[in-house]
Amino acid sequence: MEKLGRRFQGKVAIVTASTQGIGFSIAERLGFEGASVVVSSRKQKNVDEAVEKLRAKGIQVLGVVCHVSNAQQRKNLIEKTVQKYGKIDVIVSNAASNPSVDAILETQDSVLDKLWEINVKASILLLKDAAPHLEKGSAIVFISSIGAYQPQASMAMYGVTKTALLGLTKALASEMAPDTRVNCVAPGFVPTHFADFIMKNEAVRKAIEEKTLLNRLGTTEDMAAATAFLASDDASYITGEILVVAGGIPSRL
Ligand code: NAP
Repeated sequence: MEKLGRRFQGKVAIVTASTQGIGFSIAERLGFEGASVVVSSRKQKNVDEAVEKLRAKGIQVLGVVCHVSNAQQRKNLIEKTVQKYGKIDVIVSNAASNPSVDAILETQDSVLDKLWEINVKASILLLKDAAPHLEKGSAIVFISSIGAYQPQASMAMYGVTKTALLGLTKALASEMAPDTRVNCVAPGFVPTHFADFIMKNEAVRKAIEEKTLLNRLGTTEDMAAATAFLASDDASYITGEILVVAGGIPSRL
């Protein structure tokens, strides 16, 4: 990682759901590039472990427990960040839930509410709390999914919430301009705990690899690199955009 630049020197970055998987790699990447990072997730133990790992790599890090659909914990995440670092430059909204494999018309009310609450509404409410502390030149990145473009049967409603994030990106880019840029990364398939169906089934894994043009699954580092680009000043003329990082799996023109 020594060859990385220092695009985030002096910047403060919050990444939600960042104690493992894609969120952790994003926090690590921003930290390697000089950011003071704030990691969070639901479980104190996971937060402590992530903080320890990042600190061991020389990254300036604060850990805060935050279940994104808990209003008090969202407020606390913002307050602790501002108390420690005095400002916010980057927010990566990465938390998502996929509690069901049911068809949309068979999904329980409570599950529909949970999907909306965690995957979309919590991102909006976190930004509401953060807005007064966002610096001029700040950047928001939402983590959507390739499934936003063509929801898969087994994750259809999850896909629809990810489609909503594309619209939210456009709407908030307009609302938060010109001081804050708002962009979105749509990952392809990355073998993480969230996507353990890929790891558990060799045939599924092969089928997904074959759907890509690059003949491989994505890595958490691939997602972190794209997110860091959009959050950095290298993307200072880019807002309201979605970057698909899916190895060439078809998405849109
Ligand atoms: P992951 O490896 O399973 O990591 C999930 C992280 O989120 C953990 O740190 C977990 O920690 C935390 N978390 C879970 N629920 C939370 C909540 N309600 N509030 C706060 N933190 C929470 O997942 P991932 O694959 O990196 O997924 C990250 C994002 O990428 C999601 O938005 C997902 O939709 C998107 N994505 C993933 C893929 C893929 O193939 N992996 C593809 C497209 C999009 P705790 O258990 O401590 O809360």
